[in-house]
Amino acid sequence: MREHVELTGRGNGVERESAVPPFRRMRRLRRTEALRRLVRETSLSVDDFIYPLFITDGASIRAPIASMPGQSQISVDQLPVELDELRALGIRAVLLFGIPATKDAAASGAYDPAGVIPRAVRQIKRHDPDTLVITDVCACEYTDHGHCGVLVDGDVDNDRTLPLLARTAVSHAAAGADIVAPSDMMDGRVATIRQALDAAGYPTTPILSYAAKYASAYYGPFREAAESAPAFGDRRSHQMDPANVREALTEISIDLDEGADFIIIKPALAYLDVVAAARARFDVPILVYNVSGEYAMVKAAGQLGWIDERRVVLESLLAMKRAGAGRIITYHAKEAARWLAEEQSLARTGHHTRDSLMARSNP
Ligand SMILES: [Zn+2]
Repeated sequence: MREHVELTGRGNGVERESAVPPFRRMRRLRRTEALRRLVRETSLSVDDFIYPLFITDGASIRAPIASMPGQSQISVDQLPVELDELRALGIRAVLLFGIPATKDAAASGAYDPAGVIPRAVRQIKRHDPDTLVITDVCACEYTDHGHCGVLVDGDVDNDRTLPLLARTAVSHAAAGADIVAPSDMMDGRVATIRQALDAAGYPTTPILSYAAKYASAYYGPFREAAESAPAFGDRRSHQMDPANVREALTEISIDLDEGADFIIIKPALAYLDVVAAARARFDVPILVYNVSGEYAMVKAAGQLGWIDERRVVLESLLAMKRAGAGRIITYHAKEAARWLAEEQSLARTGHHTRDSLMARSNP
């Protein structure tokens, strides 16, 4: 208790009446930016970001996505410009989604070796081999009904969809993808894809599994972006119920047992408890997907002047790291990279009086 007396006895050279009870002064370490930087527990850096790209068939296309201001569908020939911009910003990883010219019931565009994603991967590897290319593996962008696999009696048939996913993953690996990321939520897909990759001569291609992907309303704008909205029904027969967290841990455990190298939890903000629980349980890298609806909400409120967009974005991304995410798939990647670079140059020049949320040089 003597310690407490001393703690409350004086502060900033001002003698105080000891009328207040003993308490600990947490504010001491928040007083200046230098002190806050010293004790900061979590940091955000451009290395944390993976940028999603929507690749569409055709040429000279850069089609803005209305519900995702700042994001566009681009054609393969536009990739070099895009990659140069990302490289200049320090963003070194992309996640590709394909929008094929034609769709059919069998999703044949998904595994076409000359399809939009294999062509995009080859273009990226020609232009900038060091950019890490992750490809989304699912059928919903390629089916005319918009569902994530082969339909039988109006529902996605799990086991008939597996070979389709495996074939898709192999076509991406063959084109040079660094990582394949199955997002379909079929049971057994990781084991099936692993086996197919190994058999096709790609035993070193990692699988990044969307292990815990919830049936979320936050995907709305993405379906416009990827033109993948289901023609009828929804995805609740395979994506997870938002009410469940223990089930997510089981999903992750199964995917790891089947051979997933690391995992994604999706969406991010409304599921940070899932991230924290997974971080506590598993030792593999965990990524979050800061999805289209999360992006659209922030953008809309920012445009209306209802929030400080920059601070909300950086605070949200930081919260994902704090919850346990190692890396973040985010549409905010470019602007966040710019803002972080600005913060750093402010810190270097000593003009760090404004409230900063991040610092790379923390202990
Ligand atoms: Zn899908």
